[in-house]
Amino acid sequence: MTKRKEYLLTTAIFLFCCIGSYFCWVYSAPNQFPVLSKALAVEAVQPVEAATSDHPATSDHPVTSDHPATPDQPATSDQPVDSDHSTAPIVPNPPKPPTPSGGAEAYTDNPVPVPILMYHKVNPYSASSLYRLWPEDFERQMQYLKDNGYHTVSINDVLDQFEKRKKLPDKPVVITLDDGYRDNYLYAFPILKKYGFTATFYIVTDYVAESGSEGTFMTWDEIKELDEAGMTIGCHTLNHCWLTRASWEEAWRQVGDSKTILEDFLGKKVDTFAYPYGAHNKWVSEVVYDWGFRSAVTVNPRPVSTANAEHPLQLNRMGIYSDLSYDGFVYKINTDNYNY
Ligand SMILES: [Zn+2]
Repeated sequence: MTKRKEYLLTTAIFLFCCIGSYFCWVYSAPNQFPVLSKALAVEAVQPVEAATSDHPATSDHPVTSDHPATPDQPATSDQPVDSDHSTAPIVPNPPKPPTPSGGAEAYTDNPVPVPILMYHKVNPYSASSLYRLWPEDFERQMQYLKDNGYHTVSINDVLDQFEKRKKLPDKPVVITLDDGYRDNYLYAFPILKKYGFTATFYIVTDYVAESGSEGTFMTWDEIKELDEAGMTIGCHTLNHCWLTRASWEEAWRQVGDSKTILEDFLGKKVDTFAYPYGAHNKWVSEVVYDWGFRSAVTVNPRPVSTANAEHPLQLNRMGIYSDLSYDGFVYKINTDNYNY
């Protein structure tokens, strides 16, 4: 190595040592250099900065600006993290409906399933069919309900249980009769009154007979008598239209006009609807909804339970037909025999 090269190498080593010493000194005494100290401090709290109001915290790491939580300084129970911050995680379950005052025993947190029964004719004379029950068979079923502690309720009562948690009487059951047959007035109505039961009668308004008529269908006077006796009058279209096969305009007319006719006649709101043939779909239910009905019943043969009570315009309903034995009836209305 020449002298010149030896001189340059020595100089380079000296300069390297001087520069290294300088930085070691600076980093070991940051307080003497505020600018650099601040830069280091920012780097240290960077995870917290990412969770300030300018950079909202995620639900996994909620942090408030008042109590920034770092991995080194986790929030304690004394210093709740973000308990009222707008970015706090949403409670996964909605709050329960408020319990109104006036008798806590009248409300429940555990809604019970309810069978809604569907009848048609109750008649000793008309031609035999699945839809015609002998009056004595109908009475035997009502007798069973009475003897075994069942209580009739309305569909609004059922919805009040699911939507407002209003407690129902023990072993609730809903009785419905479709189409407005006059035998309902002549035979079913006296039996219902005998056992202190109520029922809902779904009326096809074009079929209603004039006063004094003794035909197949009830008269307006007879419908009025049912209403005044505490029975519920429901809507079943103008002429038993198959709504899912109708145009939207026709369905709108069938649902709305029949409701208006019944309400004008009774002088009260009619808020329950039965789909003829049980035929319904999304847009038909929307028509029923738009006309202001609170409930609508189908022919899906299961009790109404928490599983489907969220769809009050598509409520389950169990047909009681003439081929159903007495034991079959007893089995069918027992809500313990269904999975929910
Ligand atoms: Zn019908």
